[in-house]
Amino acid sequence: MKSGVFVFAIVVICSAVFAVETDSLPTVVVVTTGGTIAEKYDSATGGVVPAVSGSDLLAAVPGLNRIANIEVVEFCNIDSSHMTPDIWRNLSSRVQEILEQENVRGVVITHGTDTMAEGAFFLETTLQSEKPVAFTGSMRSGSDISPDGSANLYNAVLLVCSPQADAWGVTVILNQYINSARHVMKDNTTNIQTFDSGDYGYLGYIVEDRVLVYNAVLEHTRLPLPEALPDVPLFYTFAGDDGSYIRYAVDQGASGIVVVGVGAGNVNAEVYQAIEYALGLDIPVVFCSRVRYGEPQALYGDQGGGSSLVEAGALLSGDLSPFKARLLLMTALGQADMSSDELGLLFRAY
Ligand code: ASP
Repeated sequence: MKSGVFVFAIVVICSAVFAVETDSLPTVVVVTTGGTIAEKYDSATGGVVPAVSGSDLLAAVPGLNRIANIEVVEFCNIDSSHMTPDIWRNLSSRVQEILEQENVRGVVITHGTDTMAEGAFFLETTLQSEKPVAFTGSMRSGSDISPDGSANLYNAVLLVCSPQADAWGVTVILNQYINSARHVMKDNTTNIQTFDSGDYGYLGYIVEDRVLVYNAVLEHTRLPLPEALPDVPLFYTFAGDDGSYIRYAVDQGASGIVVVGVGAGNVNAEVYQAIEYALGLDIPVVFCSRVRYGEPQALYGDQGGGSSLVEAGALLSGDLSPFKARLLLMTALGQADMSSDELGLLFRAY
């Protein structure tokens, strides 16, 4: 009889200790959207396809319950090549709701790597919270010999729980490296070390459960999440481009246009005239460069040079990638009352 009471007492004490321990752990919500991290090989298609649920994804990560109380929200399950600005708008709204829950420390978002940089940037621009949000995913599927998803997911939860993440806003963590949503780009089609931030460098690095800081603080420019996102096409110019695609977009009612030029942001005379056509109808045009490093500049004065484009009223994209410049222009034009001067200031400040 006495041994039974003794065992019962031990169980009660351990449960109480466990309850205290888990109560003291931060709560992290993992929002799953799909991507290779949730994909497996499918013989019918001969390729990897979305196949793993959010809860199964978490179940495959050992040790998570040592560092956080995890809640899962299955938002969608698609390859990120199918992501749209409207899906990111809804994702931002859903994540905002989660971050406003007092007990939530932060959010991890699993997402395909193909468009993760833009998706993370959109949330960086539209979330109104100082709590950490980390995007992660994987370059290898669950059917590969050595999948990278579980380690990335573990590190993303660890990152969101760390005090270092408080200054970083929205981040992208893959293969131990931490990038800012603001500067990150996908740089390799298949290698697990695919994300980097160019001249800006990594925010930090995770090793043996430690978050190392390389860059401390980031400036965050945030805009209210628009009710709707206007249509903003993006055009890479090319040798011999006659500007007809830009003119077509204007005639189809584009609300804004992003043009990706060559070198320091230059285009040919025909494209310049098409940009003038858009500006003449009060359609804002942001111009970028196809060159990875550096920013477009008002350098060249010939018709189509950066200086002539600024003179005509086109906006320099700063160091934003063309895809991020497009999302920022959509978000800005989605504001009820942003003037063209404010739009210009926004891109100069970014
Ligand atoms: N195609 C995949 C995606 O972007 C690639 C990945 O997740 O690594 O969803």
